Amino acid sequence: MKKREFLQCCALGAMNAVFPRPVPAHLHAEISGWLTGASDGEELWQWSKEALFVEQAGDAIHCLKCPNDCTIPVGGTGLCRNRVNVGGKLYSIAYGNPCAVHVDPVEKKPLLHFLPGTRAFSIAAAGCNLACLNCQNWQISQVSPKETENQDMMPRAVVDECRRTRCASIAYTYSEPTTFYEYAFDTAEIAHREGIRNIWKSNGYIEEKPLRKLCRVIDAANIDLKSFDEDIYSRLNAGKLAPVLRTLRVFHEMHVWLEITNLVIPGWSDDLDMIRRMCAWLRKNGLDDVPLHFSRFVPMYKLNQLPPTPLKRLEDAHAAAVSAGMKYVYIGNVPGHDAEHTYCHRCKKMIVERRGYAIHANHIKNGKCRFCGEVIPGVWMG
Ligand code: SF4
Repeated sequence: MKKREFLQCCALGAMNAVFPRPVPAHLHAEISGWLTGASDGEELWQWSKEALFVEQAGDAIHCLKCPNDCTIPVGGTGLCRNRVNVGGKLYSIAYGNPCAVHVDPVEKKPLLHFLPGTRAFSIAAAGCNLACLNCQNWQISQVSPKETENQDMMPRAVVDECRRTRCASIAYTYSEPTTFYEYAFDTAEIAHREGIRNIWKSNGYIEEKPLRKLCRVIDAANIDLKSFDEDIYSRLNAGKLAPVLRTLRVFHEMHVWLEITNLVIPGWSDDLDMIRRMCAWLRKNGLDDVPLHFSRFVPMYKLNQLPPTPLKRLEDAHAAAVSAGMKYVYIGNVPGHDAEHTYCHRCKKMIVERRGYAIHANHIKNGKCRFCGEVIPGVWMG
């Protein structure tokens, strides 16, 4: 047996120790793939940074970053594929090596109540701590940073590029920023010092301590609330609902501007009773003026056989949320729909008119509705 094969076998054997909970079958099938090439256990990858939020467990390291709660043996890799134990120390191997770099309208995140009409310098490094059957970025989220084509862009360079491209913010997005936390945090800290805003686009699957530290440098977040059911979270996403709900509460409590996206997947997350329960929870927790985006599913990845979400079901979800007392409800991924505009909660007039990501009219003045003076929650220009 060659040395590399031996190391892989050791790591595979040790992987049982990495999962403190049952791993869904679709995830199990991929584990050996994650280990291949993720870490050879002896060399430090060029784009490494010692990981934050860890505790020693003998030679293994317990990662405290997210609810997956991995205990990673020497030579092993976390579920997210980008945290490796090299010689008894845990390293992020997603530091300064983004696999995606784009300039996006902030509306694409989606954030509709945060500096509308501005652009967000958007970066992602490979890896994710969930394994959603419908992932739309699986080519970069379900692989390790060693398997993607990356750019060389350290935190200082990201901030400089953001300025050069005249973006108002930096977005940590596309894959899952919790898994490239060290890179995102260091970048956000520099940006924050220099007056550039930071956006966290995430599945919300993060432990409370790293989240609270993050809130110091993040200005806005859009969090995916994938369903309102633990069983669906387990089968569809290989995750848990409760930590995501905690994330929503913490962002709100820490005064980070928050918006929520709920992807309505036929047969999975389109149950109207569940949507009503979700809205009732949001209302009960003081999140009724947090913009809620019902997003249309299109066939993707392992759910390629499903149809796109029927428009009627999106509209029913929208109506259910409004009836439940949610004040700013949107329908996404349906360009030209009336529910992509913003309406004042008090006078019901259209105050921001949109077409896709473009803004055609904005009647918010100094954070208030120009027609009736109602304060519109959000972060507005001027
Ligand atoms: S961040 Fe990665 S290594 Fe850490 S617990 Fe989560 S999945 Fe595991």
